Amino acid sequence: MDTDMAKIILTGDRPTGRLHVGHYVGSLKRRVELQNSGEYDKIFIMIADAQALTDNADNPEKVRQNIIEVALDYLACGIDPDQTDILIQSQIPELCELSFYYMNLVTVSRLQRNPTVKTEIQMRNFETSIPVGFFTYPISQAADITAFRATTVPAGEDQMPMVEQTREIVHRFNYIYGDTLVEPNILLPDNKACLRLPGTDGKAKMSKSLGNCIYLSDSADEVRTKIMSMFTDPTHLRVEDPGHVEDNPVFIYLDAFCRDEHFTRFLPDYSCLDELKAHYMRGGLGDVKVKRFLNNVMQEELEPIRTRRKELEKDIPAIYEILKKGTAAAKEMAAGTLADVKRSMKINYFDDTAWIDEQSRKYSE
Ligand code: ATP
Ligand code: MG
Repeated sequence: MDTDMAKIILTGDRPTGRLHVGHYVGSLKRRVELQNSGEYDKIFIMIADAQALTDNADNPEKVRQNIIEVALDYLACGIDPDQTDILIQSQIPELCELSFYYMNLVTVSRLQRNPTVKTEIQMRNFETSIPVGFFTYPISQAADITAFRATTVPAGEDQMPMVEQTREIVHRFNYIYGDTLVEPNILLPDNKACLRLPGTDGKAKMSKSLGNCIYLSDSADEVRTKIMSMFTDPTHLRVEDPGHVEDNPVFIYLDAFCRDEHFTRFLPDYSCLDELKAHYMRGGLGDVKVKRFLNNVMQEELEPIRTRRKELEKDIPAIYEILKKGTAAAKEMAAGTLADVKRSMKINYFDDTAWIDEQSRKYSE
């Protein structure tokens, strides 16, 4: 099958909130670069509403509302619907069918070992009552990735166990039923700070569910307020005190966003981030000065996104049209994969006329 040779991207986000700068540096910015590189034959970006419902079953309004928010964020960041199909997961029933068959290839204990799911269960206080759908979402994610024959999954570090689980399913499926599914690779950000951007509160991960986010759609004032009240180094009490830059979200954000040219423009006393860090560690550099600089750097990056989003918000029906078109294209691809899967699993009874003939001969002997 020559589609096996095609370079295909699948990524996505759960519509559980507007997108934040963690999504941006962890995955979204990279997607736009990959899209514009022209190196990929197909790019699919999925709004994972069915997955969002696995831990928001009682809050369908939230999921529904955030579909459009996430779509606006994509387009504002430069996702181009002429080059990239944006799809809504729940509108492609083929994905459920694939999940159903993949479930036979994964054990309960294997799912229990997934470190991302483990942390997420703790975060949601699900320990005593995990919804089955939530527990099995890594399998449904394998269905998403394989349905589009994705070779590349650009994502943050928390997605590594999901892609690993997908690869295992692909191996097992192909081993049992013959070569059918394509094995994906995760594409992590090159910049270490972007693998998992911490929250403004210093918590390990900026996450919609934790309320510690700077959103792409935040106003300039909101961004400034959030940056100026960010958690820093709790031992850096007076300006003279030596400070720590590791585990200090202000410096981690600078690692993620700042380039040397920003110093020329906003903080000419220093030539690069290493100099600024050295001063902070020595003592004598106050948090407020560093935060003001971070604010300038981030405002510059976020301003054009915010402006484009405002423009896009003026025509919401057009956004739904884009989603409808992207979903239709994606459904076609998923249907092709599902047909391959069913053929390999020998559950394509009505299409398999050769087999019907053979049975017919057997019974007429
Ligand atoms: P939720 O809390 O609902 O799970 P989330 O903020 O974790 O939301 P997801 O939709 O689960 O966001 O993740 C979408 C993509 O963004 C994934 O590729 C994930 O790796 C990446 N991502 C999410 N948060 C971060 C972060 N803080 N730093 C880097 N990448 C991130
Ligand atoms: Mg998540």
